[in-house]
Amino acid sequence: MMYLSSSRGYNIVVREEEADVVVVNTCTVRRDTDERIIDRIVKIKRAYPNKKIIVAGCLVSAQPYTVKKALDGTRYSLLSTHMIAEINKAIREDIKKIKFNQNKVFYPQKNVIAIIPIADGCTGACSFCITRIARPLLNSYPIEYVLRKTKEAVRSGAREIQLTSQDLGAYGLDRYRKYMLPELAKMILDIPGDFMVRLGMMNPEHLLNIIDDVIELLRDQKVYKFIHIPLQSGSNHLLKIMNRRYTVEDFTYLVKYIRKKVEDIMIATDIIVGHPGERDQDFEETINVLRELEIERVHIAQYTPRPRTLAYALPQVKPHIRKYRLRKILELIEKIGLRAHRKYVGKKTKALTTELGNNRTTIARTQSYYPVIIKEEIPLGKWIYVNIIDATYYDLRGKRARGDLNPGLPA
Ligand code: SF4
Repeated sequence: MMYLSSSRGYNIVVREEEADVVVVNTCTVRRDTDERIIDRIVKIKRAYPNKKIIVAGCLVSAQPYTVKKALDGTRYSLLSTHMIAEINKAIREDIKKIKFNQNKVFYPQKNVIAIIPIADGCTGACSFCITRIARPLLNSYPIEYVLRKTKEAVRSGAREIQLTSQDLGAYGLDRYRKYMLPELAKMILDIPGDFMVRLGMMNPEHLLNIIDDVIELLRDQKVYKFIHIPLQSGSNHLLKIMNRRYTVEDFTYLVKYIRKKVEDIMIATDIIVGHPGERDQDFEETINVLRELEIERVHIAQYTPRPRTLAYALPQVKPHIRKYRLRKILELIEKIGLRAHRKYVGKKTKALTTELGNNRTTIARTQSYYPVIIKEEIPLGKWIYVNIIDATYYDLRGKRARGDLNPGLPA
């Protein structure tokens, strides 16, 4: 939106008081996020009664009435996730009616990291998920389109290509009537250039069908040895209530199989604690799976009821139990994360600088996608050697070592 509006001659300012039009881009994945956004919109409306407000993104798509109520009494436009390209129209006119017309929107990639969405929506119907209300159908973007956008990103200097969607593994099922991720990824890898590909999240039910092809991709030197497979719960009883379409055994099989075939792989997963129907024994089963498999990176979310979802209507787990379980699981994943990271302390490794960190630090990614924080400002997009000197449960700490690996790909 910033790109599209500035190419039309609008000036982007960061302070609300300097703006004629204030754009609020939203997320709706958690209830506390919703509440903060609504609160912010109301504050802006009260502080600047003469300014127009544009609200864009998932909250608009999933809960337009809540957003409209917050905007009542002021000039405004609404943009659903599929209407982002209409930002300039939204500035000129007041758009009140939202559309779900599956428009494809990409923004130009001028960074070292290029995010390339390859599809929108998913084939799932998970009980807790509000994303599928905002993005109701799987819409895989055409291969030629994704390739064109990736080539543009590589040409403009991208060194890390992140392929993203709600469920990467499902790519192609709608448009091509078959799994097409492996084919698409191979074509991307054939694009000449010095870049790394990061594969996004893949649900187990689709990954099971393409696992050998995905393993082949993960072994490619231009692909980070990193895979994100959301488990959500370690109990089959709860996975059923969640309407997830795989079993704990499927997940365990995938993790073990990938680890056997791809050396140094980093596996990430997602867990929700406190989903309706989660009994003590279900929670314990989740703890046991994480403990047994030692998943390197676990993203934990405490369940919050989302409107218009199946789980909203179910009897809820008491808040103090949810909080207790969250604390317990966080303790575990911090220990596991620290153990996974400590293995690298004392080693020298190659890493690609991709982001600037806080306090004049640089963040580089190892080939297994571990972030290494280096206390030095280093130009982005460079392969360097780093000595790993310390680790936290979340990242590695390193010092730049002698030797330069540029230009060219890692050996
Ligand atoms: S959580 Fe389930 S319904 Fe929501 S986007 Fe992922 S697969 Fe789709």
